[in-house]
Amino acid sequence: MKQKDCIIIENLNVFAHHGVYPEETRDGQNFYVNAVLYTDTKKAGYSDELEDSTNYGEVCQEIHRFLTEHTYKLLEAAAEKLAEYLLQTFPLIQELTLEIRKPEAPIPLPFESVSVKIHRGWNRAFIALGSNIGDRQAYIGNALKHLGEDGNIRNIRVSTLIETKAYGGVEQEDFLNGVLECETLYSPERLLLRLQEEEQLAQRKREIHWGPRTLDLDVLFYEDEVWDKAHLTIPHPDMINRDFVLKPMSELAPNFVHPVYRCTMKELLQQYLKSTKV
Ligand code: AMP
Repeated sequence: MKQKDCIIIENLNVFAHHGVYPEETRDGQNFYVNAVLYTDTKKAGYSDELEDSTNYGEVCQEIHRFLTEHTYKLLEAAAEKLAEYLLQTFPLIQELTLEIRKPEAPIPLPFESVSVKIHRGWNRAFIALGSNIGDRQAYIGNALKHLGEDGNIRNIRVSTLIETKAYGGVEQEDFLNGVLECETLYSPERLLLRLQEEEQLAQRKREIHWGPRTLDLDVLFYEDEVWDKAHLTIPHPDMINRDFVLKPMSELAPNFVHPVYRCTMKELLQQYLKSTKV
């Protein structure tokens, strides 16, 4: 792996009240935090200005404040929530590794320390947007508004929305389709759940496969990850046959490479247009 720039915080001491046992939440104990903050340091390296970097003093203050103001039973939860908070609060941190150590954990055996260590970050994702019932523009617009207000989603770009004929052989109204690009802290599975929440808000009913829908939100890509699970396939499997996906994808990210077909969006669109030409 290419070595990435980082800022490192070692063994920041926080006296806090996390733990499963009542005496832990009552009496408190020492926690130690290790954090590796992955951030491009070049700009600050050349300018020598603090505003071009992440102030590690502020990060330490925020870690301390967060861990003393909240109480979690599990180190896993403390680490998860703290990682999310730091990534949302310090925008130049693209990813981080966070370890919370608990050397005074209630274990009746000799031991040095117990800890939970996680790696989290912002991930680039592409989401297909579609609607073909009622006020299509409003259904898509509302979803975009809600996703734009979600702290776990940032840097949204939306393609032009295009009118398309329905796909899949069911007789129905034309669709309005587009693609949204964003960075997200959600894992692929949580992102899918978040999108399904939006579909529910739009009173989407799952009745006919490929049937009419107020709102359809699909995960097209999540970085260059390939997932093949029962409930989630990434990249979205049928996209190479859908010009209403390939066109907006080519508008937003023409040189984005499909991790399975190893072709750019522009190339996939050209291939599709060639194959459908009579
Ligand atoms: P649809 O009715 O076309 O929105 O399909 C939704 C179903 O497809 C859900 O049950 C999902 O679990 C499943 N699915 C599999 N892969 C994806 C994906 N990449 N994006 C959205 N839904 C997916």
